[in-house]
Amino acid sequence: MIWSVPVDLKQIHDLGRDYPWPRPDCCLRCRNWRLWGHGFVTRYFDGFADGLLLKCFRCPHCGCVITLRPESHFPRIRSSKETIRTHLSHRLDTGRWPPSSLSRSRLRHWLAHLRRHIQARLTSTWRLGVMAGFERLLTLGLVPVARPI
Ligand SMILES: [Zn+2]
Repeated sequence: MIWSVPVDLKQIHDLGRDYPWPRPDCCLRCRNWRLWGHGFVTRYFDGFADGLLLKCFRCPHCGCVITLRPESHFPRIRSSKETIRTHLSHRLDTGRWPPSSLSRSRLRHWLAHLRRHIQARLTSTWRLGVMAGFERLLTLGLVPVARPI
């Protein structure tokens, strides 16, 4: 289970295991008050050549493992939400991708996935525009640019 929290990626990079992660008040699944530290997982983010260590907790009651994630990022995507948003809206506004270090194929995938999510989740008659669809999918708790299942 993922718990999104506001964090500073640069500090996580610099401090490693000493980064002061917040601790959930209780298990996010069963509400058990007690949680144990459960080590770290390595995850990769744009702008950092090395993987960053993300803190995990484990609930001894139900066995749930909680991994903390930066709320600035979607699960399993290295670019920040803001980077994705600005690249997509630039493309949709101007018809071109902005100058960027990100690969064109990654950018094109994001847009294609977003359009498929809009069609699948918001009905094919969605008329408020692609970026409005992006925001709407966000409020539904979905990852608008993830590969649709
Ligand atoms: Zn639990």
